[in-house]
Formats: sequence, structure tokens, C-alpha cells
Amino acid sequence: MCGIVGYIGTKQAYPILIKGLKRLEYRGYDSAGVAMISAGGDLNVYKAKGKVDNLIEYCGDKDVSGSIGIAHTRWATHGEPSARNAHPHYSRSHNLAIIHNGIIENYADIKTKLQANGIEFRSDTDTEVLVQLVEYIMVKKNLSLLESVQVALHQVVGAYAIAIVDKRDPCQIIAARKQSPLVVGIGENEFFLGSDASPIIDYTDKVVYLEDGNIAVIRLGEELKVISVLGEEQDLKVKTVDIDLGQIEKGGYKHFMLKEIFEQPECLKNCMRGRINVEGNHVTLSAMIDYHRQLLSAKRIVIVACGTSWHAGLIGKQLIESLCRIPCEVEYASEFRYRNPVVMKDDVVIAISQSGETADTLAAIHLAKEQGAFIYGICNAIGASIPRATDTGTYIHVGPEIGVASTKAFTGQVTVLSMLALCLAAERNTIPPELYQQIVKELTLIPGKMEQALKTNGQIENLAPIFTYARNCLYLGRGYNYPLALEGALKLKEISYIHAEGYPAAEMKHGPIALIDSEMPVFVIATRDRLYEKVISNIQEVRARGGRVTALVTEGDTQIQKFADHIITLPDTLECFQPLIASIPLQLLAYHIAVCKGKDVDRPRNLAKSVTVE
Ligand code: GLU
Repeated sequence: MCGIVGYIGTKQAYPILIKGLKRLEYRGYDSAGVAMISAGGDLNVYKAKGKVDNLIEYCGDKDVSGSIGIAHTRWATHGEPSARNAHPHYSRSHNLAIIHNGIIENYADIKTKLQANGIEFRSDTDTEVLVQLVEYIMVKKNLSLLESVQVALHQVVGAYAIAIVDKRDPCQIIAARKQSPLVVGIGENEFFLGSDASPIIDYTDKVVYLEDGNIAVIRLGEELKVISVLGEEQDLKVKTVDIDLGQIEKGGYKHFMLKEIFEQPECLKNCMRGRINVEGNHVTLSAMIDYHRQLLSAKRIVIVACGTSWHAGLIGKQLIESLCRIPCEVEYASEFRYRNPVVMKDDVVIAISQSGETADTLAAIHLAKEQGAFIYGICNAIGASIPRATDTGTYIHVGPEIGVASTKAFTGQVTVLSMLALCLAAERNTIPPELYQQIVKELTLIPGKMEQALKTNGQIENLAPIFTYARNCLYLGRGYNYPLALEGALKLKEISYIHAEGYPAAEMKHGPIALIDSEMPVFVIATRDRLYEKVISNIQEVRARGGRVTALVTEGDTQIQKFADHIITLPDTLECFQPLIASIPLQLLAYHIAVCKGKDVDRPRNLAKSVTVE
């Protein structure tokens, strides 16, 4: 997983590579490295643990010249995060250097064989095995770099995006992908490489997204060539990328996460634009038009996702079951893919992933597809692997999400799921027309209500220091607000490193209530809905045991303040959209607590933005 950058052209590679690595920092990583071939023909590799800034510092007095180079940010899968294990990795002779995202699963076998042939290894990574194998084949069979890569990739089991340079041929980069994204940018007499387009867009908008099993032969002064592992030349599908760089910058906020929380009203407008008519009473999704029969004949819907997307899926389940009356299950993609699930031909599988690259979700899609299900993707990153692997889908269109803890992607996913449920319900006649129109109308009002919810920011900033002492927190909610309790707890864990659990409020008495004392903050989503009175009882259960309650309530509420230590007031909305509004104070709470604790909010430890390993 994580980041790949490459450059070949007439300019100095190093500044381009470093800038590219910085652009990819949002993906999360533990170390970084660069390799350049100098004009004198040296292949210089420099690596450092930690941030790209550490690498820059390390490179300070080194020879970083050369107009061809590759660079990497690593998220360790094999071997601890360290400079030694960071990429690029040299081959034995130091003629080749490789960078790799992904996992070589059969690395141990290959390594043993290579060691038996006298090859020594300098790192604990699976990646080094690949570069040593390539060189071994090159020498043994007297093949070119390209041919050796082709042979080596045949022997490799796993997922990869790789780039390799050979110092004896400083006009060429060989790159390949399988289940890990890779993009080639085409400039004037220069080429760029990236694990997504963000390190490339400063220089060119012409890109080629490599397909699984493709190898790119990038030679200076020649046309880009893309071949399959078998050597068949592939058609070049050059695309024009249109990413607004301003969108990727922090826009005056202290952190990307805060910017992204505040962007949500705008993001949801973008998400609904062109899908809900101007009168605000009708939803159309192009997928619904193009795949009407497949979607309408669904006997069951299975949602597969991971992390925050899984929480959005749980909300989707409630929307789909209550509005469309179609049974809906929500599965962790990582469990689904390994448990021989029953998938039927008239199942529709909805795969949700912000990055569109989540390895487990992609594998779940392949499994469901093999068994004949129709696959619908809900992703943010355009052109990513999941949108390409699905039969159809809907982009959430919330723009690049850089903070590792997902915020706007979550509300975007819930919005798309709401629109999908409304479309399906209308087509299936499972919803009275007035109710349909009322819900559609309310959805269009959500961005404005989110603006109002964002006004709680100051209050939450003031409350946050109260909770920094906590070692555990409990989040409670019922109905649509239960998945939100899970999401609120996840946010806090991710960025403040405080342990938190989300629970259906009524379940608390079956166990977690034992944990409650005056040390344990309890956050209750107690907005006004069918279960409001029940939630009040649950709050009283907490209070009776000395628990400290912070409640999210609907404006005009007069009851809960009697039982809660703190209340956060939110605008009223329909029950099914309460998670869209109430997610805002929960995101802000996690954010401000993490800031108070001095944590790296945008790049929390151990986490990666785009989880492209299983
Ligand atoms: N499996 C490789 C390693 O642990 C690559 C990890 C990554 O994708 O960053 O070095």
C-alpha cells in the first residue's frame, strides 16, 4: 500500500519526487525513500524512517542529482518500519532498484531458493525478494530488464504496484501493477508515475491508469508502451484528469480533518447535484436507469465494506429495509471473502470504499462476481480499482479526502445510500408518493442543517479538554443512530488513541454497564425519534451508576438536560437522516480531543488512508 512516485525526463528528478511524496502523505506511511540515477551513472538510494521531512533532512548533503528516479512511502507489511526496510531496495549488484506497494505472498519460498543460490538479503521485506529475483533471472538467462520482470512476475503470487530502474539504462523505468493502483502521467518529453494522479497533476493532465497485469515500459524519447505480463501490447487509454489542486490543500484550516468536516455541506450538495431535481422532489441515479432490471430484481442486498464504510453500510441497511422492503445484510469484506458465503444470482452486492482500492472489499467483489451477483460500487476516488471492478455504481463526489480518519466520505456514502434506497423504493412502489417526496425534500435540506450543526464547533472545542483524561469512552445510540455510535467511537479511537466503544443503547445493560463509573464519559445520541423515550431511560441507567453523560439532542428538547452533564443541540430532521447531522458533533469531538492531546490528527499512528493490503 501507500505511495509510489516516479519521474523520467529532462528536469532534475529529486524535487519532483519529493513533492510527489508529500502529495501522497495523506495515504499514511511509516518511512520513505528515493532513488536517482546521476549523470555519472550512479544509482543513489536514500531512505529514512518516519516522515518525508526526515528523508529530506537525510538527503541534505547527498548527491541527489539525476533526471530519472523513483520514490516511495511505505506502510510496512513485512519487516518493521525502519530505514533498512524502507524502499527503494537495491538488487545484489546495486544495478537495480525497486519500489513496491502491496504484498508478495510467496516471498518466503522465492527467498529460500535465492538464498540457496548464494543471494544475501539486506532487508526483511517481501519487496527485496522481487528485485533479487529479477536480477537473478537477468543474469542467469541473459534477459533484458523488461523480459526479466515479465518472467519474475509469473513466479510471484500477490498484489503489487512496482517500479524498477537499472543504472545501466538511465532512460527507462519499468512499472507494473496487479491489485494495487498505478498511474503514468505523460508530459512533453517526460513521464511521471504515481499511485494516484495527485503527484502528477502539477505537470500534466494526461494519464494512463494501468490495468491489472499490465506492465508499462516508460522510455525517454519514445511513446509510452503498455504490455501484458505475456508481452501482448495493450491499447493506450489516455485519460484527462481534472483534479482541482486547491481541493487538496488545507484551505486555511489547521488540519485536513477539520477542513473536511467543514466541507461536508458543500460535499453533500455536490453528491446530490444532478441526481436530485431542482424542485427537490425526485431522485435519479444513472445506475438505476442503466441497470434497472438487475437492480429491481434484487431479492437480497448484501453490503460489503470495511471500517467507516461498514458503518455507512449499517445505516444503508436500515434505509433499504425500511424503504424498499428488500432484505439487506452488511458484512465486513474481510470476513465475507474468507467464509464461503451464500451468494445468489439475484443478489445485488453493494461494495463501499472511499479510496476504491480497499483490498478486502475488492476481493469480496471478485468472490461475489464469480458467484453471479450483480455488483454496485459506492466509491470516492474516480477510476480506482473498485469502480472498475463493479458492474455499476455511484460516486460520492466529495473530493479528495486527505485526513486519514474519514469524515466527509462517511456522510457522502450515507447520502448515496439514501438516494439509492429512495430510487429503489419508488421503482418498487414500496413507499407512498408523499412520503417519498418528503424524504427527498428533507435530503436536500441536509446541507443547510449541517451548516447549523457546524456551529457547535466552539462549544465542542471548549468541552474537549474535559475528556482528555479519559482512557475509555462509551457511545450509545439506537436505530439509525446505533451505527453512528460505532462511527463516533471509531473516530475517537483513530485520532485520540482513547479506547471507545459504540453500543446499541439498550444492549448496554447486557454487559458494558459494568464499566460505568464517574471516570467514564458516555456520549449518547438522543435526538428526537421513535426511540427517544427509550433512550432517555438508557441515559437514566447510566446516571444511576454515576456515569457522566454528554447527550446530542434535537433543538427544543427540554427533558434530557435534566439528566445530562452536557448537551449539544442539533437541528431537527427525519429519523433516517439524523446520522448525517449528528455525525458532525461526533467528528468535531474526536477532532478537538485529539488536538488537545497533541496528536497528529491527519496522520494518526499505525493507520493508512488507503488500505490496499488485506
Ligand atoms: N510489502 C512491502 C513492505 O512491507 C510494501 C508495503 C507497502 O505497500 O508500502 O515493504
